[in-house]
Amino acid sequence: AKRFKPGSPFFRLDKKPGMLLPRVGHAPVSVDAQRRQLPIYPSRTQVINQLRQLHNAVFIGETGSGKTTQIPQYLYEAGIGRQGVIAITQPRRVAAISLAGRVAEEKRVQLGKLVGYTVRFEDVTSSETKLKFMTDGMLLREAIGDPLLLRYTVVILDEAHERTVHTDVLFGVVKAAQRKRTEQNKIPLKVFVMSATMDVDLFSQYFNKSPVLYLEGRQHPIQIYYTKQPQSDYLQAALVSIFQIHQEAPPSHDILVFMTGQEEIEALARTCRDISKHLPETCAPMTVVPLYASLPPTQQLRVFQPAPKGSRKVILSTNIAETSITISGIKYVIDTGMVKAKRYNPESGLEVLAVLAVQRVSKAQAWQRAGRAGREDAGSCYRLYTEDEFDNLANMTVPEIQRCNLASVVLQLLALGVPDVLNFDFMSKPSPESMRTAVDQLSILGAVERKDDQVLLTPMGKKMACFPLEPRFSKTLLISPEFCCTEEVLTIISLLSVDSVLYNPPARRDDVLAARKKFISSEGDHMTLLNIYRAFRKVSGNKEWCRENFVNSRNMGLVLEVRSQLRDICIKLNMKLESSLSDLANVRRCLAHGLFMNAAELHLDGSYVALDTHQTVSIHPSSVLFQAKPAYVVFNELLHTSRCYMRDLCLVDADWLHEAAPEYFRRKLRATKS
Ligand code: ADP
Ligand code: MG
Repeated sequence: AKRFKPGSPFFRLDKKPGMLLPRVGHAPVSVDAQRRQLPIYPSRTQVINQLRQLHNAVFIGETGSGKTTQIPQYLYEAGIGRQGVIAITQPRRVAAISLAGRVAEEKRVQLGKLVGYTVRFEDVTSSETKLKFMTDGMLLREAIGDPLLLRYTVVILDEAHERTVHTDVLFGVVKAAQRKRTEQNKIPLKVFVMSATMDVDLFSQYFNKSPVLYLEGRQHPIQIYYTKQPQSDYLQAALVSIFQIHQEAPPSHDILVFMTGQEEIEALARTCRDISKHLPETCAPMTVVPLYASLPPTQQLRVFQPAPKGSRKVILSTNIAETSITISGIKYVIDTGMVKAKRYNPESGLEVLAVLAVQRVSKAQAWQRAGRAGREDAGSCYRLYTEDEFDNLANMTVPEIQRCNLASVVLQLLALGVPDVLNFDFMSKPSPESMRTAVDQLSILGAVERKDDQVLLTPMGKKMACFPLEPRFSKTLLISPEFCCTEEVLTIISLLSVDSVLYNPPARRDDVLAARKKFISSEGDHMTLLNIYRAFRKVSGNKEWCRENFVNSRNMGLVLEVRSQLRDICIKLNMKLESSLSDLANVRRCLAHGLFMNAAELHLDGSYVALDTHQTVSIHPSSVLFQAKPAYVVFNELLHTSRCYMRDLCLVDADWLHEAAPEYFRRKLRATKS
């Protein structure tokens, strides 16, 4: 699978087949030696020269060539941009954290000193920090207070091919900052873009036709296998494939499986561990390592550690291992062909509700996944779909900005002081309708008002932009003092901001149901979660209690962190922090007032209709309201699988919805009834 065009416009590294990296762990080498063995190393001097001369450049190179870990160090070591901080942005927090850790190790410094990271709800930097890994969302937040990004001398926009909303917005913000700094004779800002895929013309065009620098990585031949028949259950297919390989291949060959999210990864991990215990003794032991965004840093690092000698490492990962994190020793890739992503909702014409869907990957993603098997030696990729299915995949992933809800983006742009939001210089412009819908939503939430042709932030909108939350959640939080339940709303929003705190091992379904019974609230999932949180606090987060009650104590720990940070923002905004201990109706009323755009109404035939889009939706079977079917609910998100499911529901009164947004519902309900 060769994807790099020969004949680089600038320089190329020739393949040196004799220079394969030794298997880390089985033949450990020093980190310095590892640095020198990276594909980027031979062109270090050339790279540094380019970095010194150019103000904009696009770097492309195969995953694992050393772009992310080395280029920031080259800059620092060559004294480029020493007056300020070098920022390296990542779409994912787990990547930012683990890469900062790696670079700190290579530079032999304590993390948080010279090398640090900043991600949502966590800042490990100090005044000494010069190399700062951060999520693109965090740099955007910083730009609100400092639109010229004066603290930085270099911004590296990494993983640009991912085209997340944040990356795309950041592109515009950074480009504007660079231009303005030159105009105002301030210290110039260098902006470099890094990508693992070839389609970088757009980046180059956008950044003043900047040169494209091409780094050839090491890529060994990869044998691709397809299934003969389409698979109805990709998890089952993955399980079978893992054990097929496990029983046939030498144990030093590790397996990387691409899946969609935490829940299915944890479930499959448990199944694999169970099965591997019962295999014949001739079979090697198996070390199963999960990898997904919300995994705490210490656990993330486990993917880099070699499995005990004689044991096979099986990594179950989301698309994070596609390009942002490189793991050594992978010989086999199993690609389910699926990914969880935000989706444009064709049924309603415009994506208004947050829809998170498990969907097929693009061809570009499938090739990246396969590539992970051939970094150190020839490898194999097992695609759990047929060749026909592959041929029907989209070529590229559509940039997120063209398929998602833009309300947060518009709010953030307004908070950044962007004068003409509707005409912001996006690299790929979202459709004018979706921009207008976003403005409409914000105006329904009271965050913006229109004056003549201008869209202006209201005082409410200004406060909403202070929270690292979706607009509807920050709105809910901001109005909670009216209902005297800010403490409860803080808890609920924190619980919804992390991956599920509920642990549901399928094999112990009955035990789970029995343990959970005492927390279940007939008022819905939010209230049930609140009950669990309160019980958790009562026992001061006792681990034993968590185990008995099937509560994920790790995710609960995150909830506490998130909650305390959101609470700090509330305090800064002088909000009254009251608690509505016994009266949960108040809390539900507050949720109705904040989440009214995610409301659904029960119809006579037992189906629900989302009031905003008039789309038919169902209650997700995991909801505590699955049987109850109340007349009106608000929900947290929609999940598209075979049907469109509402997840995390709260029982509400129709009256509350009306009092929350009378105009809006007058329109909506009339339309539904007709
Ligand atoms: P690129 O950005 O070009 O994909 P990276 O700079 O991320 O490449 O990775 C270069 C090398 O650093 C890889 O060989 C990878 O194995 C190693 N590496 C990166 N992070 C870690 C880590 N946390 N632990 C061990 N090795 C790592
Ligand atoms: Mg990288």
